[in-house]
Amino acid sequence: MEEAGAPHFPFPYQPYPIQEQFMQALYGALEHGKVGIFESPTGTGKSLSLICGALSWLRDHEEKRRQEADRLLQGDGGTSLSISSSLSTTTSSTPPSSSAEPDWITDFVQKKAERDFVSKLKSCEDDEAVKLLQLSKDPQEGELNNPEEELIVAEYESDDESKTKNKFCGGDDDDEDDLLEEHVTKIYYCSRTHSQLAQFVHEVQKSPFSQDISLVPLGSRQNMCVNEEVRRLGSVQRINDRCMEMQKNKHDQRPKEVEGGKRKRGAPKAVCPYVGAQGLQTLRDTVLGAVRDIEQLLSLARETRSCPYYATRLAIPPAQLVVLPYQTVLHEGTRRASGVQLKGQVLIIDEAHNLSDVLSCIHSSELTGAQLCRAHSQLAQYSERYRSRLKAKNLMYIKQILFVVEGLVRVLGGKVGQNPHSQTTQPVTELLTINNFLFKAQIDNINLFKVQRYFEKSMISRKLCGFIEKYAGTGVTSHTQTSHTQTANKENRRTEGLNRYLQTLQKSPPGQQGAAEERELAASPMMQVEGFFMALTNANTDGRVVLHTQGNVAVSSMKFLLLNPAVHFSQVLKDCRAVIIAGGTMQPVSDFKQELLFSAGVGAERIIEFSCGHVIPPENILPIVLCSGPSGQELEFTFQNRDTPHMMEETGRVLSNLCNVVPGGVVCFFPSYDYSRRILENWDASGVLARLSSKKKIFQEPKKANQVEKVLNEFSRTIQRCAVDAGTLSGALLFSVVGGKMSEGINFSDDLGRCIVMVGMPYPNIKSPELKEKMAYLDKNLPHSGGRSPGQALIENLCMKAVNQSIGRAIRHREDYACIVLCDRRYSRPATLAKLPDWIRAHTHTHTSFGPAFASLRRFFMEKKKQQQL
Ligand code: SF4
Repeated sequence: MEEAGAPHFPFPYQPYPIQEQFMQALYGALEHGKVGIFESPTGTGKSLSLICGALSWLRDHEEKRRQEADRLLQGDGGTSLSISSSLSTTTSSTPPSSSAEPDWITDFVQKKAERDFVSKLKSCEDDEAVKLLQLSKDPQEGELNNPEEELIVAEYESDDESKTKNKFCGGDDDDEDDLLEEHVTKIYYCSRTHSQLAQFVHEVQKSPFSQDISLVPLGSRQNMCVNEEVRRLGSVQRINDRCMEMQKNKHDQRPKEVEGGKRKRGAPKAVCPYVGAQGLQTLRDTVLGAVRDIEQLLSLARETRSCPYYATRLAIPPAQLVVLPYQTVLHEGTRRASGVQLKGQVLIIDEAHNLSDVLSCIHSSELTGAQLCRAHSQLAQYSERYRSRLKAKNLMYIKQILFVVEGLVRVLGGKVGQNPHSQTTQPVTELLTINNFLFKAQIDNINLFKVQRYFEKSMISRKLCGFIEKYAGTGVTSHTQTSHTQTANKENRRTEGLNRYLQTLQKSPPGQQGAAEERELAASPMMQVEGFFMALTNANTDGRVVLHTQGNVAVSSMKFLLLNPAVHFSQVLKDCRAVIIAGGTMQPVSDFKQELLFSAGVGAERIIEFSCGHVIPPENILPIVLCSGPSGQELEFTFQNRDTPHMMEETGRVLSNLCNVVPGGVVCFFPSYDYSRRILENWDASGVLARLSSKKKIFQEPKKANQVEKVLNEFSRTIQRCAVDAGTLSGALLFSVVGGKMSEGINFSDDLGRCIVMVGMPYPNIKSPELKEKMAYLDKNLPHSGGRSPGQALIENLCMKAVNQSIGRAIRHREDYACIVLCDRRYSRPATLAKLPDWIRAHTHTHTSFGPAFASLRRFFMEKKKQQQL
């Protein structure tokens, strides 16, 4: 171990000074349990700095603990215990041989092994992965079951009743705590998309720690399932349902005594062949032995015929680095279901520039009238069929759920029992506090906490799905209009946040929201209702309900909107030893700190900020604020100005001049799809497009996400062709939209993006009732500073975050160079300039007239040309 204050950072090459500083700051933040906001532009090796900084800390932390243990042991019995460092030798998941150790150490090792084993058995109650291990020990013991019994909810005990019983019957909670498998100190690394996670794993593979670290990548079943029949089902929801159904089938195959000592024989049901206990255990150990991404893991799992989804979950406790998507760590239910424990651990949240939005999205919930009516119909029939066999308490809660659902349908202007498609409603959008919504629905007398607990403990949604599956097509449920009758379960509700999150990632642009209805039909209606009930248990001030009636009850909807994401982030901040919030562009951070950290109870002394410059030399970047165009027209794209013909034509002249001097690719961002359409129509009619196309081949962001790659390939090929042909075209021009399909996650490096043009300021639509409510919430709950309200600050921040993401597409490495032209004089306001990333702001020039701006651009590219010719 290095001396205190001088940690050593193994690195695959000589790190840049900013990488050294980054790792030092990160190490300090982990050592002192801080919440760190780390900004490091793309192209500065952020991932490697995160990996080497964090793993160096983990190495030293483990070493300190070992030394401490040695010291205690020596003091105790004079015997030194030497255990090799897992981060200085190759990691092995096998406990070290204990033959040469004192008896008490042998005992310890033996007991640890026993505890590991018993903990797996113990947690079968709440850990489905481990349940699989146990179940798979008796795979062929018969197919005796009574499927009808499985559908009926067991006698229900509220928490109070269970506690009382435990108290008098000698509850064994303490013993159980002792048996839980220990989680070693680890780093959880999460990011936004699976491809970002895969990239991170590849960086770990290239790092000096690759041989010594035990890394586990987690993913959804959709990403990790190796059962081809199940994979083919496609959607997250259907894959989850089918997998869980097969586990249930496996469980059902165990012999079971039923009432009267008789056993019934049912038809054999499908089980997944990839969940044998031995296979899972072996795969788990293999996962821990070498760093692999999900693709490599899938190949391995196919070879060994074991399920990687469950094997990786079993590998979490001993792993040192767990790589997982946002929602698995940021949603408490999903966290619990996945076996992720944050207590005392380090969490790194990467690509975190939209963290507030991600948290709000994961914890919001939406229901349509059609879903409510289907859920009501299904539960009413279930209750009717089993009335004589359900205990009184179950009937009471079922009645309460039906009552609440009736109230929800009523606020949409409908009535249960009637076809929701034929009940017409007036188009109205209304925003209510949670309490007002409960009053309006006349369900304020129901204790939703108790109902929610009942949902969880009774698993009524799951039973209901089994019931629907059993009776679908028999006439019993024929009027339920359910098109999807797979068995579902508690986990569906947990993955609801994930589904919603994925939906927003795949969200179509305006006019393209086609698949939403299909997804909605695929979801199990009572699962959705359960998720919405859970959302209503948030504090009154933390959320709102948006009622949106249109056409008829079936398509009308209610949406829970989380206004205070800090409530769901505070536990994460509290549990973790240290949290690192990292991104290429974290500016503006002041309001982010206020909304997510201070509101979650984090003191200023626990927060550290680190922002590093870019590795590129200053002469490789030319950011310009352009206040007016070639004919002197002031550029200010306000709502009133932007559609005037002279503004549009002046913008065309700016672009035309730029295309004359910029080589290779020019990417032009418009503030919205609507504006992009209007200005391009104007340019088409006024001949601007024809003029532009004589300099650059024109491309436009495609309407469909699956065409993005094709357009980018063509854009790139055109630029390459132009670079070698001495024709009239000097490259290509791409029209894109801020926040669109090409404003995040796509690199316009080198010739692909020599100039990024930002037309106007992409302010969000402040007429949206949801945004208005969020602004009002912030104005009421956060301190006002700098002469502007927190609501106004939100609008500015949303705008500048989107700008920063778009302009960050260019300059991706040390040798790259580009100019950035911000066309709107409002960018020159000091408060706005302050929201640009440091490395851009420091070099930004404001030009009130076009001539000098154009001259500096021309000089910039001539200089670059000269350098290339040397
Ligand atoms: S157990 Fe694994 S392989 Fe089998 S269906 Fe479920 S996720 Fe797929």
